[in-house]
Amino acid sequence: IKCIGVLTSGGDAPGMNAAIRSVTRTAIYHGIRVKGIYRGYKGLITGEIEDFETQHVSNIIQRGGTILKTARCPEFCTVEGRALAHETMRAHGIDALVVIGGDGSLSGAREFAEEYDIPIVGLPGTIDNDLYGTDLTIGYDTALNTIVSAVDKIRDTASSHERLFFVEVMGREAGFLALNGAIASGAEAAIIPEYAFEKDQLAETIENGFRKTKNSSIVLVSESESTGGAMKVAERVEKEYPQFDVRVVILGHIQRGGSPSAQDRILASRMGVAAIEALLEGQRNVMIGIVNDALVYVPFSKAIKKNKPIDEDLVDALRILSI
Ligand code: ADP
Repeated sequence: IKCIGVLTSGGDAPGMNAAIRSVTRTAIYHGIRVKGIYRGYKGLITGEIEDFETQHVSNIIQRGGTILKTARCPEFCTVEGRALAHETMRAHGIDALVVIGGDGSLSGAREFAEEYDIPIVGLPGTIDNDLYGTDLTIGYDTALNTIVSAVDKIRDTASSHERLFFVEVMGREAGFLALNGAIASGAEAAIIPEYAFEKDQLAETIENGFRKTKNSSIVLVSESESTGGAMKVAERVEKEYPQFDVRVVILGHIQRGGSPSAQDRILASRMGVAAIEALLEGQRNVMIGIVNDALVYVPFSKAIKKNKPIDEDLVDALRILSI
């Protein structure tokens, strides 16, 4: 491998810049040239590509977002779109790719690698933490901290007015942000997609008398289709439990922004080094994951399966601690 391309794709996440920096510097350290590809797969199709030297990634480790920009690119989902991307790669002399993104981006990487025999290594870049085979994804810790500081503020007003707040957090179809955010902020409950079809989480929470000794409560709700989001949940409460004074807060894109936490910077830095080492070892079509603090290779096909389990102990802990 003489030249690698690096891109960020799909939803942005704090720490993506730290990952770009690490990939770039590690490649250069090993004598490999680096090309920065802008706007994800879109830039790979249109040729928005720039030679990267070490100074291109100076002073970015602390910055949120991604200097390479990111985009959603429906064209890459087509055979024709990927053929164009392959031509551009060849024209720019790129022999391998590092793709930083979520499960959509890694699904694209998998398709591309199957069609064209290109070595691709993925880094899990998403605040949702929903990739299988890794304990953590880049951006998750920062987003969790953002949620906690927001909920701390909501708590002040909730307790002054003795209200019940439903706070909607991101996570797509995964409840990691809601569940861990609830534990870390001392919220009373979390309504998460993993149980949406299994039980009536709202009724259970209220029937368990979660407010016996408290006047105010905060419930975190995953944004997912299966939970219906915080608005839907609040509407139901207003109808079925009119004794509560209900408010809704949707945290939204605030969760994607901000300077990455130390943990995310370290994770991104370690994973970036591992991505280049993986390519040098001849690994391909794997995502770098972290399990029990050790870096591992996870085949794309496994990483994107969307069946990463929620830790039941955390669900129990939240229930116990909210009495
Ligand atoms: P994320 O990576 O954050 O999950 P998306 O799901 O939006 O974000 O995916 C990002 C991009 O990856 C898409 O816009 C598309 O270009 C590409 N992609 C997603 N799924 C596929 C697929 N099955 N085949 C090819 N490309 C895909």
